[in-house]
Amino acid sequence: MSYMNRLKTASFDDPTAKLSQERHDRLQNPPAEPEAIDNPGVKMGIMTYLGAEHSSQETYKAVRKGVETCYPDASPMPTFKHTESIIEEYTGVSPIKYNMCWGSCVTFTGDLEHADACPECHKSRYDPFLFETTGEKRARMFKINPPEYMIQALFRNKESPKNL
Ligand SMILES: [Zn+2]
Repeated sequence: MSYMNRLKTASFDDPTAKLSQERHDRLQNPPAEPEAIDNPGVKMGIMTYLGAEHSSQETYKAVRKGVETCYPDASPMPTFKHTESIIEEYTGVSPIKYNMCWGSCVTFTGDLEHADACPECHKSRYDPFLFETTGEKRARMFKINPPEYMIQALFRNKESPKNL
C-alpha cells in the first residue's frame, strides 16, 4: 500500500499506530476528574522530573540522593523510572517508539516496518558494530508523545484552560 493511501486510511486500529487496547480505550474514554497528588515525595519527584526535563537521569538521581541525605524523615522521592510511570499513569501520556535510520532519514514504519536498511542512505537499520560483535539487533529509537493524550491531560486540571 502506498504511503499516501496509508495516510488516507489511517485509523487508531492500524497496527502501525501501536496503540494497545488500554491506550485505545483511554483515548476514547479519558478520565475527566482531577486527580490530586498529595504525597510530598511524589510531588517532589514529579517537579524534579519536569524541571530536569533537558538533563540526564543522573541529575534526577543526584537531587533524589540530596533529598534523602538532607531530609531522611521526609516522604521518600520515587526513583526516576517510578516517577515516569506515575506521570504516565496520571496523564496517560507515554511515548510511542519507532525504529529510525541512524542518519535520521526515515522511521521504519508503514511500508518500511520490516526493512533491514534505510531506502535513502542504505545504512543498516541495526547498529552494525553491535550486530557483528554480539548478534544483537539494536536500532535507533524515535519517540513520539501523542498530542491527544497531552490535551486530555490538560483538561483534567481546572487551571489549564486559564493558560490557553
Ligand atoms: Zn538513512
